[in-house]
Amino acid sequence: MLAENLIHIQDEMKQACQIAHRSVDDVTLVCVTKSVGIDIATELAELGIKNMAENRVDKLLEKKDALKDFSSIKWHLIGNLQRRKVKLIINEIDYFHALDSYKLAEEIQKRVNKKLSCFVEVNVTGEDSKHGIGPEEAVAFIRQLEKLDKLEIVGLMTMAPIAATKTELHEVFFSLKKLQIEISNLQLDHAPCQQLSMGMSNDYSIAIEEGATFVRIGSAIFRSA
Ligand SMILES: *Cc1c(COP(=O)(O)O)cnc(C)c1O
Repeated sequence: MLAENLIHIQDEMKQACQIAHRSVDDVTLVCVTKSVGIDIATELAELGIKNMAENRVDKLLEKKDALKDFSSIKWHLIGNLQRRKVKLIINEIDYFHALDSYKLAEEIQKRVNKKLSCFVEVNVTGEDSKHGIGPEEAVAFIRQLEKLDKLEIVGLMTMAPIAATKTELHEVFFSLKKLQIEISNLQLDHAPCQQLSMGMSNDYSIAIEEGATFVRIGSAIFRSA
């Protein structure tokens, strides 16, 4: 089932790339394993998956330890991170997708041993329930991070509203793309901002059409026919 689902997702990703005249090599599938155990995560690794994500610190550490033989896997922390947990996780991951406060950035700077690729999380639609900074704050926030030389701002991340229509999804992802271009055009050394982490199981094709370079997919990999 896993292998079939992965093939289906990769086909859909390819189609979305074709629609947008993009290369498939520019979009990375990040498998979100938060809803499955170590057994299934191991199967994914055996199928050749190279990017795995968790939204919780303890779960990521557990999976990473269990999969330590698969040393080429890149680990992505995609969920909100509490400052007191930074020291437990920050040297165990390759990407952090949910940077949304200066205090958190300072704690990362203090605890991390080498340069860490970070995405700034943006709450595009301003929904109250969400983490992330407002789009209008993004430029000032990213400029402020310049002093923190251990953080590299590789791009922006967002989560689309759950109940959005297709048109709304296109708008949300397109807004993030515009913001990403605006920031990359500033040519800040600490914030190349070339990447877009957007698109989940129900909206990844639309996200790719609008420029996603990392899609974070969970449930679509694990559903049964
Ligand atoms: C759970 C989660 C995903 C994956 O969601 P699915 O709908 O299962 O694909 C992506 N991003 C974040 C931040 C998540 O927490």
